[in-house]
Amino acid sequence: NSKKNKQQVCILGATGSIGVSTLDVIARHSDKYDVYALTAHTQVEKLAAQCAQFHPKVVVVGSATAADGLRQLLVASGQANIQIEFGAAALCAVASAPECDIVMAAIVGAAGLPASLAAAEAGKKVLLANKEALVMSGNLFMNAIKAHGASLLPIDSEHNAIFQCLPRSFDGQPDQHGVRKILLTASGGPFLYRDIQTLSSVTPEQAVAHPNWVMGRKISIDSATMMNKGLEVIEAHWLFNVPADRIDVVIHPQSVIHSMVSYNDGSVLAQLGNPDMRTPIAYGLAYPERIDSGVDALDLIKVGKLNFEAPDFNRFPCLALAYQALQTGGSAPTILNASNEIAVQAFLDGKIGFTMIPQVIEQSLQKIVVTEMTDLESILAADAEARSVATKLVSQ
Ligand code: NAD
Ligand code: MG
Repeated sequence: NSKKNKQQVCILGATGSIGVSTLDVIARHSDKYDVYALTAHTQVEKLAAQCAQFHPKVVVVGSATAADGLRQLLVASGQANIQIEFGAAALCAVASAPECDIVMAAIVGAAGLPASLAAAEAGKKVLLANKEALVMSGNLFMNAIKAHGASLLPIDSEHNAIFQCLPRSFDGQPDQHGVRKILLTASGGPFLYRDIQTLSSVTPEQAVAHPNWVMGRKISIDSATMMNKGLEVIEAHWLFNVPADRIDVVIHPQSVIHSMVSYNDGSVLAQLGNPDMRTPIAYGLAYPERIDSGVDALDLIKVGKLNFEAPDFNRFPCLALAYQALQTGGSAPTILNASNEIAVQAFLDGKIGFTMIPQVIEQSLQKIVVTEMTDLESILAADAEARSVATKLVSQ
């Protein structure tokens, strides 16, 4: 009987940083949540260990080889009853399965789009961490949420903060609710004060070492270039229907204020907390209630000071490129995102230098004709074209 009242959760990207934090919150509330499905790309050992703790009905991995590896591990540990699937179609199937109520979309990059969209089209409660999916498909994704009665809870800490600072009745009409501006805070990453002349020689290890947050490698590099903030400007535009010129980025190195909403009466509302993703995850899971996330209370006396400064677009050209792509519209944000994914991977693989990342993106945007995007096919076509152009650029 109590089992019936539990929410069934599917975690796309369970082995990643967000996936692990989500399971940490769920483990604190086994009376409220059951894990229906877990997915991982290649890390089968980690996934098998998660299965032993959370007993999903279904698991999805990236390939037949990974599925075989996982099967051996599950059989050996007495978990042969768990259904094993692999591939992109299986990701969409678990994200839209009738048994599932809540989908945590935490796959990194464009690879997460089809399954995130499938969850929206199946009318699920979608907890969106996978910002790249929204950047690529903004209009289509938001329309799918509305058309299928899905609910969208932003998990990105900034957007979760903004969501918390907007009225409950907010319906995508900022003017009717007196919203003047969105103030998106940014830590500035590990290179905020580094001599600009030395940026071309920084290593991947230096770039992934974020001062405040522990995250996956791709988003850590995005934080170092501030493309992460650029993607978040685009994400905020789609989530809250606010134009680019009313979304300001404010550097706030402590990452204690997670973002703010500025209202036309002069009020600015902020959400504060320790930088720990379990807070927005718990908020999304339990919304509109609040549950324990395992995060300690914020000690403002210990924090002492909160600082703010303007972003330097010369230091962080990726941020300017993202604003431009949003202004251009059409497929420009999709091209920006895809060429960034290629450039970041090339940097992590030691093929290009750090300061080449914005150059690859800028040149991809110059070379490719921007088109209108009407459906998933046209989005995936724009994504594929940008990947092929950027791949040529990084191998030159
Ligand atoms: P991560 O690299 O730690 O984990 C990525 C997950 O996606 C893994 O479970 C991996 O198995 C899976 N995956 C990777 N490639 C895949 C593919 N091709 N097909 C299917 N699955 C694949 O990343 P993360 O830091 O957890 O970030 C996940 C998403 O959440 C990203 O979009 C990121 O921008 C966003 N996000 C993360 C944080 C954070 O604190 N980590 C904060 C805000 C937003
Ligand atoms: Mg963020």
